[in-house]
Amino acid sequence: MDTLDKIKALREELTLHNYNYYVLDAPVISDLEFDMKLKELQALEEKHPEYFDVDSPTQRVGGAITKNFNTVVHEYRMYSLDNSYSKEELLEWEKRVQKGLGTDKVEYTCELKYDGASISITYEGGKLSKAVTRGDGFQGDEVTTNIRTIRSVPLTLKGEYPDKFEIRGEIILPLEGFAKMNQELIEIGETPYANPRNTASGSLKLQDSAEVAKRPLDCLLYSLVGNLPIKTQFEGLEKARQWGFKVPKEARLAKNMDEVIAFIEYWDTHRHDLPYETDGVVVKVNDIHQQEELGYTAKSPRWAIAYKFKAERVVTKLNFISYQVGRTGAITPVANLEPVQLAGTTVKRASLHNADQIEKLDVRVGDEVFVEKGGEIIPKIIAVDFTKRNPDSMPTEYIHKCPECLTELVRKEGEAQHYCPNFYGCPPQIIGRVQHYISRKAMDIEGLGGETVALLYNSGLIHNYADLYDLKKEQVIPLERMADKSAENLVNGIKKSKQVPFERVLYALGIRYVGETVAKKLARHYRNIDSLAKASLMDLILVDEIGEKIAQSVVDFFANEENLILIERLKGYGVQLEMGEETNTTVSDRLSGKTFVVSGVFSKFSRDELKKAIEANGGKVGSSISSKTDYVVAGDNMGPAKLEKANQLGIAIISEDDFIEMIG
Ligand code: AMP
Ligand code: ZN
Repeated sequence: MDTLDKIKALREELTLHNYNYYVLDAPVISDLEFDMKLKELQALEEKHPEYFDVDSPTQRVGGAITKNFNTVVHEYRMYSLDNSYSKEELLEWEKRVQKGLGTDKVEYTCELKYDGASISITYEGGKLSKAVTRGDGFQGDEVTTNIRTIRSVPLTLKGEYPDKFEIRGEIILPLEGFAKMNQELIEIGETPYANPRNTASGSLKLQDSAEVAKRPLDCLLYSLVGNLPIKTQFEGLEKARQWGFKVPKEARLAKNMDEVIAFIEYWDTHRHDLPYETDGVVVKVNDIHQQEELGYTAKSPRWAIAYKFKAERVVTKLNFISYQVGRTGAITPVANLEPVQLAGTTVKRASLHNADQIEKLDVRVGDEVFVEKGGEIIPKIIAVDFTKRNPDSMPTEYIHKCPECLTELVRKEGEAQHYCPNFYGCPPQIIGRVQHYISRKAMDIEGLGGETVALLYNSGLIHNYADLYDLKKEQVIPLERMADKSAENLVNGIKKSKQVPFERVLYALGIRYVGETVAKKLARHYRNIDSLAKASLMDLILVDEIGEKIAQSVVDFFANEENLILIERLKGYGVQLEMGEETNTTVSDRLSGKTFVVSGVFSKFSRDELKKAIEANGGKVGSSISSKTDYVVAGDNMGPAKLEKANQLGIAIISEDDFIEMIG
């Protein structure tokens, strides 16, 4: 078999396994086998860039950046759905349908109403060509690159599909994946996401598709659009399934309204068994001709209606309000409730979000409050039962001082949250920062967990992350639940973290807004902590994908004396504060076939770094300007003779920034 055939065979095989795993939920090979095959394909593709294919399973990891999402007009408008909340309303809708059609012979498809973000995906010649959000229904944002990373969205179709069509569905975050994402955020002391729906729709608009690829998003499809030889909605669902789409199997064909109502009643009680959230049932006239006859109102089809499940709600007493301080100093008020059963779990606490929310609801200690569990994992208080209010109660006064360190709280213009500004002295902030430092994606220190960090801090053994490196086994042994072995593991784990590469160290430092991806970008750009520390606000903003908010936060971090001392100490312990050698190897082939001459003095690169960057991106560095030169990268003080020669030969002269843009 020649290489191309081998590549094609691997792609086909992996596409099928992908389908088995993500669409059918029925893998036939182990994850390890899958990964090995994927690595094999990756290696072959790297060796043979000429066989690149956007639809290859290796491309699911994303990487393309979208700075601005294009607005696209929908060829077929994306309508809303009318809502109904009771059996009576459904029966009225049925009457209107029957009257509109002049017959009572109407069948319905019943589907669950998936709670996520709507998407319309176009396929041409069996390949995914475009994905657009609903937007205002007339036009939406093109998010194709992001959608391509969602494993259950087929990039190529199976079977006998039409040459061109659109398919609509919902991008969702299944509950388990959502909980895992939040767990990771909690681990690093960040605020968890409020609900799967908003997180799913927010994910579609992330600029970095590699970030989208990391999120456990799913796509559930519910309708085909276009001039298609399909007679019923139910047939459409089956067809879509055959072409490789994930169409939930719960959908049913109902012969009459009684069967529709039975479907609704069943799912009203069983919806919590599903791996994702639903907020109702969508009932659609099954026959496409009948649908066309009924047509649309200004907003929604007359042939479909949503039945919304009632959000589960209980009344309970608000015992007291407590205030949590996060790693970044953000204060979150928490309602502590009289324990009550809600949607299958006991609820004791509910989020109150911020001071505005408390004021808006006018919640007071002792109130009877309505608690609801909708899309949110954490239940929320939606209202106060004012009829039960104690007439002597007083409005809740928001705290002015940090409950942990008594520092006066601040609230920035335009921000909802109060903050404790005592960044360097407030215990939960200090503990949170060290917890972040040791967390899995940061220094990943074996043998040391979040609780032990708190213990170490509370017993006065550490005050910051640099102190970790001074810890002695003998100091740790007396701590709660520590033994000789575990103390040794802890100290060894800390020692081992000195090998962690710079980009992760940079993330571990806990500079506000510097997440994993940003840390990577900054590390690659500045190569070492000293250059980064020296960078001005303007320098930073000029780095690809670094916005003003991040840049300001980086500048603030390095303006602080205590941080500089910590960094000097980390350096002293041998923590990696510069890029290792291996990162100097090829990063792209964007400059392949091009010869560059470097001349003058530069502000962002040293001359050597510039040359390395040229080579790392596949270009050649020439020593003098000649007819073979493609570009002269000109810094300050470029010699006039060189300039003249370049001009004479008509060679493009580019600035350092042009060059940075060239290599992306
Ligand atoms: P609404 O946003 O309340 O007007 O409801 C309409 C939205 O429900 C559509 O834009 C779809 O994204 C979403 N939806 C979820 N599940 C379905 C389904 N099975 N059929 C049709 N629409 C659905
Ligand atoms: Zn504080």
